[in-house]
Amino acid sequence: MTELLFRDDGYLRSCTARIIAADERGIRLDRTVFYPTGGGQLGDTGVLRLASGETIAIVDTVKGDMPDEVVHVPAAGAALPEPGGELIAEIDWERRHRLMRMHTCLHLLCSIVPGAVTGGQVADGRGRLDFDVPGSSLDKEALAARLNALIAEAHPVGPRWITDDELAAQPELIRTMSVKPPTGMGQVRLMEIPGVDLQPCGGTHVRNTAEIGPIAVTKIENKGRQNRRVIIAFAA
Ligand SMILES: [Zn+2]
Repeated sequence: MTELLFRDDGYLRSCTARIIAADERGIRLDRTVFYPTGGGQLGDTGVLRLASGETIAIVDTVKGDMPDEVVHVPAAGAALPEPGGELIAEIDWERRHRLMRMHTCLHLLCSIVPGAVTGGQVADGRGRLDFDVPGSSLDKEALAARLNALIAEAHPVGPRWITDDELAAQPELIRTMSVKPPTGMGQVRLMEIPGVDLQPCGGTHVRNTAEIGPIAVTKIENKGRQNRRVIIAFAA
């Protein structure tokens, strides 16, 4: 198990940590600020600073076999550190902040398009959601105008925890059919934009929609009879 510091504070850029294991798959720490690929959001990149002064570039972060296990993937050919040692784990904050802005923007998109979400991805500078909506009911310019309005209204964004039983009693909270929320731990984390969006999400988000900045809807693709892919990007 890795202590997931990003889950309580997405703005943490670095932390001290102890090396639990290092093998061909990657490096595991007792705690981390690195978000592992999941829920449609890309894993973090960054650097591990060893006590010796050496640094190890981390090119990706993925989930391990166990729940809450995080594997830091070093650049090819990097020398692996000895378990037991302490280091400083530091993410590429500029990239992570762009992912947080885009991820939060996809929650806004989700809130203005009726219909189930069938897929999605948060990449660097762009993102997409797939919706199960019939016909050509979505308009690029209209969606962009509503998104930019919600962004400019500066809505607060924050986590809220509920129990598995409370979630089971409110199945309408689950908008994404392709990703089941992680239940079984007793509690589920919801991401809330009061009055706008509320759904289970384990990703990283900005604190306020104003932080997203202006966006554009770059494309709406027809991916099958009832499947519309909405692609957005930062406008500035
Ligand atoms: Zn989210």
